Amino acid sequence: MKKAYAFYFLNTFIPASLLFCSIFYIFTKQTQKFEQQTLKIREETALRSASDFTSTLFKDKLSDLFVLSEGESLRKFLHDKNIMNWVQVSREFSLFVRRKPNYNQIRFIDTDGKEIVRVNKKNDEPEIVPKYKLQDKSDRYYFKQANSLKQGDIYISPLDLNVEQGVIEEPIVPTIRFATPVYDGYGTKQGILVINYTPAELLEKIKDIFKTLLGDIIMLNSDGYWIMGADDKKLWGFMYGSKVTFGTEMPEVWNAVKNSTNGGSITTKSGEYIFQRAYPLNRADIGTVENIELSSDADLPQSQDRYWVYISHLSNQLISELSAIPIYISTIIYLLLLTAIGLISSVIANIAIQRKTKSTKLLQEATTDELTGLFNRRELNKIAEMEFNRANRFKRDYSMLMIDLDNFKIVNDTYGHNIGDEVLKHNANICLSSTRTEDLLARYGGEEFIMLLPETNKEGARQLAERICQDVRDNPFDTKSGPIVITVSIGVSEIDHTDLSYLDILERSDRALYLAKRAGRNRVAVI
Ligand code: GH3
Ligand code: MG
Ligand code: MG
Repeated sequence: MKKAYAFYFLNTFIPASLLFCSIFYIFTKQTQKFEQQTLKIREETALRSASDFTSTLFKDKLSDLFVLSEGESLRKFLHDKNIMNWVQVSREFSLFVRRKPNYNQIRFIDTDGKEIVRVNKKNDEPEIVPKYKLQDKSDRYYFKQANSLKQGDIYISPLDLNVEQGVIEEPIVPTIRFATPVYDGYGTKQGILVINYTPAELLEKIKDIFKTLLGDIIMLNSDGYWIMGADDKKLWGFMYGSKVTFGTEMPEVWNAVKNSTNGGSITTKSGEYIFQRAYPLNRADIGTVENIELSSDADLPQSQDRYWVYISHLSNQLISELSAIPIYISTIIYLLLLTAIGLISSVIANIAIQRKTKSTKLLQEATTDELTGLFNRRELNKIAEMEFNRANRFKRDYSMLMIDLDNFKIVNDTYGHNIGDEVLKHNANICLSSTRTEDLLARYGGEEFIMLLPETNKEGARQLAERICQDVRDNPFDTKSGPIVITVSIGVSEIDHTDLSYLDILERSDRALYLAKRAGRNRVAVI
C-alpha cells in the first residue's frame, strides 16, 4: 500500500515539479531580462535628457554672442571709434554681465589681438576695464582660432577652469569661452567677440539628473578627462597636467564611445556602460540669418569635435540586485510551489489508491465467495472451461472433485447458522490446504465445493480425495462445548476425450458423489 502510494505520488510529483519549476525558472529569467531592459532604457533616457539640456543651454549663450557681435552699439563703434561709442559698447557689455547669470567676462578684441572693450564681473558687479589696462591677446589660442573664422562661425573653447595670473582659481570656476568674428557695415572683419561663461547651471542640473540615475555616472570631456562624477583628484586632470583619463582606465568602453556618434552601450566584464555624447552646440539649431545657409552645410565647424560624454555604469552586482527577484522570495515561491505540487500529488495518489482498492475489491467481489474467500461459481465456470479446453487440446490429464459436507443440516440445526458458517469455513480451509498452485478450489453451492485438478488423472484425484476425507475427519471444528466432527463425501471423475465441455466431467463427479452418499457417506466414489 505504501509502495503503491509512493509510486502514485512520485508519478505525479516528479513530472509536475519538473514542469512547474522549469516554468518558474523561465519566468524569472524573462522577468529579469525585462527588468534589465527597463533599467537600461531608464538610464539611456536620463542620459539623453542630460545631453539635450547641455545642447539647449549652450544654444542660449550662442544667441547672446550673436546679439552682441551683430548689435547696433558695436557696429556704430566700429564705424566711428570715438569715446562715446566706446562707452556705449561697454555699457551694453555691462548690461549682459549684470543681467545674464554666469557671464564672467565679455570682450571685443581687434584683429591684431588687442582688447578694445572688456567688461569683467567683479563681486557680482560688472567692471569696465579702463583702456590703459587692456591687454594684447594676440598669442592666445582662442584669439587665434576665433580670428580665423568666417562670419557667423563660432568658436567654443574647451570647458576648463578659470586661471587668474597663471594660477587656477580656487574654489574652481569652470569656464568656457564662446567667440565669433565681428564684421563692420562694409563687410570687413574688425575683430572678435568673446564671452567667458561659467556653466554653473549646467553642472547643477547635470548633478540633479545624475541623482535620478541608478548607475555610477560620470561626465567626461572629449579627451576623456573627468569633469564630474569622479573623485576630486581625478576631476579636471588636464588642468593639472595629468595623463590619466577614462580612456587609459577603461579603453574598451572609451573606444565604444569614440566609435559612436551619439550614444550607445557596451557590456563588459565589469557590467554595462551606457553612454551619450552631448554637443554644446548644434550649429544648425542657432536661428540666425547667417546660419540658414550653414545649416545645410555638411561640413560642420570644428566645435563638433568639442563634446562631452555622459556615461552610466551599471555594475553586474547592481544589475542583479535591481533586476533579480530577491533570492529569498524566489526560494519561498519555489518552496510554496513544491509544497502545492506535493499536496496535489498526494491527493492524486490517494484518489488513485482508492480507485485501485475499489476496483480490486470489485474484482474480488465478482470472483470470490464472501464467506469462504474461495472462488465463486462464476469464476469456477470460467476457469474450469479454460482448463478443460487446454487439457482437451493437448490430451492432458484433468480431474475434478465434487466435495459435499455430510449431514450439514444437522450441524446448523444443532449449533445454529453462525457456527455452521464457521464449520463451513474451517472445512473449506482444510480442503484448500490440500491444493497445489495449479489446482483450484471453488464454492459450488451451499456446502458443496469443486476442486479442479489439472495435470492429474483419476487415480491421483482419488488419492487426493481420500486424503481430504481423512483430513476433514481428523480435524473437527473446536467449540467451547466440544469438537464438531464433520465428514465429507467426494465424487471423483476425470476428463474423457469425448467430453464436449467441463460440464460433462462435472456431471460425472456429481453422480460419483451421489454414489458416495448412497454408500454411506464419509467416502470417495469414482466414475
Ligand atoms: P447430506 O449428507 O445428504 O448432504 O445432508 P445435508 O444435510 O448436508 O444436505 P442438505 O442438502 O439436506 O442440506 C444442506 C444444508 O446445508 C442446508 C443448509 O442449511 C446448509 N447450508 C447450505 N449453505 C449454508 C451456509 O452457507 N451456511 C450454513 N450455516 N449452512 C448452510
Ligand atoms: Mg451435504
Ligand atoms: Mg449438499
